[in-house]
Amino acid sequence: MAIIELRHVVRAMPHGARLRKRRGRLLKPVKPSHKVELWYKQQLLAVVAKLRKIVREELLPELKRMEPLYAASDGITRDAKVPRRPLESTFQRMGQRIGGIEQTANRLAALAVQRSADTVDDRLKAAIKSSVGVDISPVLTQSGPILDALRAATKDNIDLIKSIPEQYFEKLGDAVGKNMERGMRFEDLAKEIERIGDVTESRAKLIARDQTSKMNGAFNQARQTSLGIDKYQWQTSGDERVRPEHDANDGDVFRWDSPPATGHPGHDVNCRCVAIPYFDLDKEEELLGL
Ligand SMILES: [Zn+2]
Repeated sequence: MAIIELRHVVRAMPHGARLRKRRGRLLKPVKPSHKVELWYKQQLLAVVAKLRKIVREELLPELKRMEPLYAASDGITRDAKVPRRPLESTFQRMGQRIGGIEQTANRLAALAVQRSADTVDDRLKAAIKSSVGVDISPVLTQSGPILDALRAATKDNIDLIKSIPEQYFEKLGDAVGKNMERGMRFEDLAKEIERIGDVTESRAKLIARDQTSKMNGAFNQARQTSLGIDKYQWQTSGDERVRPEHDANDGDVFRWDSPPATGHPGHDVNCRCVAIPYFDLDKEEELLGL
């Protein structure tokens, strides 16, 4: 399949549009969408809320009932042999109630990827339209590098969503086993379980935020390179939370095919830096056919 690059589009442009192109060499940055991040965060928090509800309804009553078997009344650690069987069946029951995480993960990942990709396309289209005066809609097909990027992001997000209940229950199992053996009282054990729920909630928020910006970075790279834009200018969010190494990249121009030591914008966890499509003077003249 022939790849239609931006320079072909520019060549086909009317002269007035070409002149406008000469003035603005930098396009507007395509930032991650807050709306997508918010939506994704709400979906993942709903998953965590469901998990916590099941734990409160199944695990806590069982631990309360078993308290005489494990809690050290004098507060002195004892090496109690606590029967594991009731807990094993409790964890089994919780697993059954959760069910369907596979389908939930597939559905949410597909939606998150689609929403992120649509945002990148809409914003890139608007940036190029306002700077070059060209509508790139016809070349925004879902094939080639963008398809690879969409597939990779879908897989990453499915794995991350599935890891939420996996890690939650693994942490719960560890904490319950360890603290029962130490003779912890139910009240403290219940607090520890709530704390693990809070940690899981924070992790869900981090996944939503981080994946939204990672997808923005990856989809921008795929779209820009397939349009023939092979360089970008690094732009940080300009606040005090920017990593010093990223701050050092601010304003510098990099090639998509050779990332700086830091990786491309959005590559690091919680990186909010963006890649502004960049045309250098030579390329611009090439674009203009001069
Ligand atoms: Zn950054």
